[in-house]
Amino acid sequence: MDYAIATLGSHSALQILKGAKDEGFKTIAVCRSDHSFVYRHFGVADEIIEIPSYREFYRVEDDLVRWNAILIPHASLIAYVDLKVIENMKVLYYGNRKILSWESDREKQRIWLEKAGLNLPRVYSDPSEIDRLVIVKFQGAKGGQGYFLARNEEDFNRKIGSAENYTIQEYVVGIPVYIHYFYSVMRDELELMGFDRRYESNVDAIGRIPAEMQHDLKVTYTIVGNFPIVLRESLLPEVFRMGRRVVEASREICSPGIYGPFCLETVVTPDLKFYVFEISARIVAGTNVFMESSPYAWIKHGKPMSTGRRIALEIREAIEQDRLKEILG
Ligand code: AMP
Ligand code: AMP
Repeated sequence: MDYAIATLGSHSALQILKGAKDEGFKTIAVCRSDHSFVYRHFGVADEIIEIPSYREFYRVEDDLVRWNAILIPHASLIAYVDLKVIENMKVLYYGNRKILSWESDREKQRIWLEKAGLNLPRVYSDPSEIDRLVIVKFQGAKGGQGYFLARNEEDFNRKIGSAENYTIQEYVVGIPVYIHYFYSVMRDELELMGFDRRYESNVDAIGRIPAEMQHDLKVTYTIVGNFPIVLRESLLPEVFRMGRRVVEASREICSPGIYGPFCLETVVTPDLKFYVFEISARIVAGTNVFMESSPYAWIKHGKPMSTGRRIALEIREAIEQDRLKEILG
């Protein structure tokens, strides 16, 4: 039986669909009507299903089932489609569907990362406990919008307004490094796909204005794009160790655990410690900087290998070995 690969038209869809085509799959993009021309323009989708808004995503279920499509999740799917809708859809789904709730709930995320024994920024349960610079974040994959920094309780109260559902985290001073992993069930191996950093408005604009004017700026972290990074090679052993521990811990909390692409979002301090402030349990858009390949994936596979293509390769190997069930959640 032939399978198709489907995803929602945003985030990393170009990469996922191109990778699927390179591995010989039929591809399907589910797009908002006003975005579909982009996917038509790039020619990565054999079929384009248009929906008026992301809320209508559930309507495509029957089409996807009929085409024997395997749905690839990404942050836009999680941000715009209700978790319950995704969890209950009859569509074939790549990855462990149950792990999504471990990503979207910050407390569960923390349990997972603590179990993996990683360095985590301190979390404050009450603003009165703030004793150093903190970052205040809001629930869900909203791309850093509205996040703010606070020095103390008074500063926090002034900035929080009427907002709810926030997390107060120690602000770790260092450089952000987003680590892209891929755990292959077929090969029973953790692969390093690459690293990126984000380009965020307006925090990355601060250096462009004079210091005396920086005080007037209300800093926030809205994601706009990404840059590739190559890491100091002596840091790679720790990178692999962290990834392996996350996979092992995931098997305890949510069997059969995490597989496929995932990302540890870290800050690296001057003493070369990685502080993990978040995990994404699916492909991250930072992998788009390596649509052809990262240096690491290229060395490992001996040919261009994006994370999107790596997903399709895993699915192809599973079909060939009659093991598809092991990677559909
Ligand atoms: P969008 O479909 O672009 O509205 O994105 C939906 C969500 O995916 C955003 O709120 C972000 O959390 C995440 N996202 C999209 N693009 C990127 C990116 N280039 N880097 C990191 N996260 C992203
Ligand atoms: P996020 O949406 O959680 O990926 O974070 C958005 C931005 O906030 C990124 O630029 C991160 O580098 C930064 N950030 C998040 N948490 C921390 C933290 N605990 N310490 C320092 N920077 C952080």
